[in-house]
Order: sequence, then structure tokens, then C-alpha cells
Amino acid sequence: MKISVVVPVFNEALGIEEFMKTLQATMDSLKIRWDVLFVDDGSDDDSWQIIQRLIRRHPVARGIQLSRNFGHQIALSAGLEHADGDAVITMDADLQHPPQLIPELVTKWQEGWEVVNTVRADTRTTGWFKRRTSALFYRFINKISDVPITAGAADFRLLDRKAITALLSMPERNRFLRGMVSWIGFRQAFVCYEPGTRTAGQSKYTLKKMLHLGIDGLTSFSLGPLRSALLLGAVSIILALLYAIYVLWVKIATNTAEPGWTSIIGVVLFFGGVQLVSLGIFGEYLGQIFGETKRRPLYIIRQTAGTVPDPVRKENL
Ligand code: UDP
Ligand code: MG
Repeated sequence: MKISVVVPVFNEALGIEEFMKTLQATMDSLKIRWDVLFVDDGSDDDSWQIIQRLIRRHPVARGIQLSRNFGHQIALSAGLEHADGDAVITMDADLQHPPQLIPELVTKWQEGWEVVNTVRADTRTTGWFKRRTSALFYRFINKISDVPITAGAADFRLLDRKAITALLSMPERNRFLRGMVSWIGFRQAFVCYEPGTRTAGQSKYTLKKMLHLGIDGLTSFSLGPLRSALLLGAVSIILALLYAIYVLWVKIATNTAEPGWTSIIGVVLFFGGVQLVSLGIFGEYLGQIFGETKRRPLYIIRQTAGTVPDPVRKENL
């Protein structure tokens, strides 16, 4: 039995050593074979040098360096492809995902759960803006999405080998792991945790990255937005018909039928808006199709350090 820990790293030079120390203390107390795989997601600080130094000191550590910043979700996928444990735990490098929770995840796994998710208890350590937008996002996505996506679910979870095989057999480039993990099924447990404060550095999730993740999550797990374009169109046609009846009535029943500049502008603007919204939604899905049809690899590796297992070959899944 072996457990692999997968850690995506983007400009975390200040925090990695502290992370490794805490992780090592927890894992050693478990008396189980383990290793840790750092995936350097194109950091432009000293993260890779520090990872290499850690690898020289700790035989359990290994690393992959991607050729540029591919994003958190892809770095996680790269790690899952190269980790060879019977179970894999994915977690952040900033100690916001407390390693102290790992024994509980492992116990659940040994009890027979194939996926052990963690749910972040909302505390003040997460900023107000992030908490609000995250709560709204999950409420919305669960209304329209085809699979349930737990609010506050973090990319801190344990996956049994069976679940990893299932995830890796999903070829999409647009990787919203929270949704994908929900989609694969299996016996899934949930464990609550209080997030720690970031040990060092700043959040690497800029508003732009968060928006991209949100849109990917919405469009890859729901046709709702696409269908809403149809609904929007239908509603506006009905409104336009009602308005036409009103205009006719004014013309026939009264003699105040002054051609209304304001209402014309109103109608034009309204339909312009409806069309743009619909086009935007179509465009988003078209973009997804475009991205998938290029069939590019998900990521490119510049180099590895330590004994990194060969990636799981998709054709063998
Ligand atoms: N991360 C990454 N690539 C990115 C952004 C972030 O690999 O493009 C890593 C980052 O180093 C951290 C984890 O993903 O280990 C989560 O990022 P962060 O802590 O910045 O997000 P937050 O906790 O603020 O949501
Ligand atoms: Mg974090």
C-alpha cells in the first residue's frame, strides 16, 4: 500500500519547505509507505530550485516542472498522471489544506470510501469577497448543473486508484476537477476542515483565473446557459408581441398615435442585448469545442527531478 501526495506549486518559494516539514511529520506518523510529487506549474521564482533541494534531502520527494504556467487544474491532472500510489491525495502547497487532516482521509479510505472529499468550513481566514462569490457560484452551478457540486469543496481530496483511472480516462482539456470527480461516481465521503492561513506569499488565484475556472465549471457541466439563450429569445418574442398589440391598440382606439422615439430605441436596445447575450453563450460553447478539437496535449514537461514514475498511458486505461 502506498499513498502519493500531489502538490501543485506556482511561485510558492517562501512556503514549500515549511509545507514539506509539516507533511513529513504527518505522513511519518501514519506508518504507511508514501511519496510526494511536486508539480511546478511554471513558477518564475525559486520554487523549482527549492523543490530540487528538497528532493536531494528527502528520498520520498520528486518533482515535475511544466514548461510554463498551465493553471492549477492542469497541474493537478499532470500530477495525477504521474503519481503511482494506491491512493493519491491532492493538496495545496500553502498549508491552507492542513496536512493534519490526512490521517482522517486515510482512515476513510481504509474503511472503503473510494473518494474522500474535503469541504472548507467558512471562516474568516478566507476573504469576504472570495467567500461571497464562491457561495453564489455554487448556488448557481447546482441549480443548472447535471451533477451535484458541493459548495466549499476544495481540491484537497483523496482518490483511490480506481477513481484516478476513471478521471484520467476523461479526455477533456477543460478540466474542472470538482465537477469531474462528482461525475465519476464511486463511493464518496466528505470531511470538513478549517482552512489554515496561507504560510507565505499571496493567493495565486487572480480574479481572472477565478472567472475562467467558474466559466469552465459552468459550461463543462451544464447545457443550461446554452438553453437559456433559447428561453431568453422566446421571452423577448412574447414581450415584443404584447407590445405590438399595445401599439396597434393605441393606433386604432386613440388618436395620439405619435411615433414614439423612446419606445423604438427601447425595443432596439432590448433586442440588441438579447442577441448579444445569446451570441456570447453560443461563442463560449463554440470556444470549448474549438479547444477540444485541437487535441493538444494538456501540458508540456520541461524536466523532472527524483524518480518520477512514467505517466499512466491513456490507451491502457
Ligand atoms: N497554483 C498552480 N497554478 C496556478 C495557480 C495556483 O499550480 O496557476 C497552485 C498554488 O501554488 C497552490 C494551489 O494551486 O498550491 C492553490 O492556489 P492558491 O493557494 O493561490 O489559491 P487559493 O487557495 O487562494 O484559492
Ligand atoms: Mg491557497
